[in-house]
Amino acid sequence: MTELDTLPTTPLATTPLADARDALRAAVDHLGYENSVYEMLAVARRELTVSIPLRRDDGSVEILIGHRVQHNFSRGPGKGGLRYDPAVTLDEVRALAMLMTWKCALLDVPYGGAKGGIRIDPRNYSKAELERVTRRYTSEISPLLGPEIDIPAPDVGTDEQTMAWMMDTYSVNRGHTVLGVVTGKPVSLGGSLGRASATSRGVAHIALAAMSSRGIAPHGASAAIQGFGKVGRGAARFLAEAGLRVTAVSDQYGAIECGAGLNVAALEVHVDRTGSVVGFAGSTALADKDDLLFSEVDVLVPAALEGVINAETASRVHAEIVVEGANGPTTPEADAILAERGCLVVPDILANAGGVVVSYFEWVQANQAYWWSADEVEQRLAERMTAAWWRVAEHATYRQLSLRDSATSLAVQTVAASHRMRGLYP
Ligand code: NAD
Repeated sequence: MTELDTLPTTPLATTPLADARDALRAAVDHLGYENSVYEMLAVARRELTVSIPLRRDDGSVEILIGHRVQHNFSRGPGKGGLRYDPAVTLDEVRALAMLMTWKCALLDVPYGGAKGGIRIDPRNYSKAELERVTRRYTSEISPLLGPEIDIPAPDVGTDEQTMAWMMDTYSVNRGHTVLGVVTGKPVSLGGSLGRASATSRGVAHIALAAMSSRGIAPHGASAAIQGFGKVGRGAARFLAEAGLRVTAVSDQYGAIECGAGLNVAALEVHVDRTGSVVGFAGSTALADKDDLLFSEVDVLVPAALEGVINAETASRVHAEIVVEGANGPTTPEADAILAERGCLVVPDILANAGGVVVSYFEWVQANQAYWWSADEVEQRLAERMTAAWWRVAEHATYRQLSLRDSATSLAVQTVAASHRMRGLYP
């Protein structure tokens, strides 16, 4: 019995992994590939689960669980973020690693897919404790890490400081500095200019392309953004700079709105000062933070959590376009409901791929020890995002597919072609 036998592809209750496998199944069927392609790509190439003993500041010891999943290496080293969240599960990490394989293939970045996670709520730990957790986790998974093996980056709950600790731990154990082992590092430590804002910039590029495809001009258009973290905050800034009114934003503490458009620059100052969007002068609080999803806007950017647009919420989403800043914010049931209404959903593997594109630029720069200007980074990012948009949109039109099915099919086609050319060893 294989692992696939124990995890049916169409279970009654969907999970991120089941959804990811269903999307792969649909792509394999659409491409007319044999079942062995599905079987090869439905299961990760390598997985490591580690226990992480943490000495807390009060002297007690707590055991945490961490994972690193490497889904595919056919096009290059594994690449994917590291998530610190109390809800992390191995299946979630597996699903996210698979999405990374598709994302890298779609954007023609020479990587496979990987993802990591530690089951921890970082808000409940001191900086010193987080440093110890990060260093121990890095040490435990280090046989699987390396600039030519697997290259982590920040994700939910982690940041450039986390990457600096990972790089340092790996380097100390190797006896020399290895800048290319992680991306999303501080610029002062081999990070790339433009990496911190890359995912958000990519979201904005894709949102503007999607709006253009629907004949919506940026000036006068409106947007609502769920999540005001690394992705949502920059997306709000860049969409406002492009002329949109950002009428509603939310974070884990609440949601605010202002029909005339929030002053995003002033809101960022407020968030830096208070830690939340809540209480921003000139805005009104929404009764329930999830009501943000139902805002009357042209563009909705879910940039926080998985599965928020689902069978219960989708029918109340009014936006004409949903741009998936987060990974997996829309369930397959919701996709069907939104499609029925004519809502254009731009899938995560395209919409939020700006981060991995500039991670690739950072890795190239670190390996060559030669640094590009911010303008160079941004121009190359814009070119890649726009080219990927056109590939996905044209294939969708030509083959009568949703953007998600189009993007997944193109990515699976690219990965399967690498497998075929490399052949099977032995
Ligand atoms: P983050 O931790 O920096 O920010 C998450 C934000 O979501 C925070 O503002 C938090 O307050 C908010 N949030 C949490 N629960 C919420 C709720 N119930 N309602 C509204 N807001 C809530 O994380 P991030 O890096 O911005 O990642 C967000 C999503 O984007 C994740 O799905 C991640 O996998 C995806 N993503 C991130 C990157 C990246 O470069 N950081 C790249 C690609 C995809």
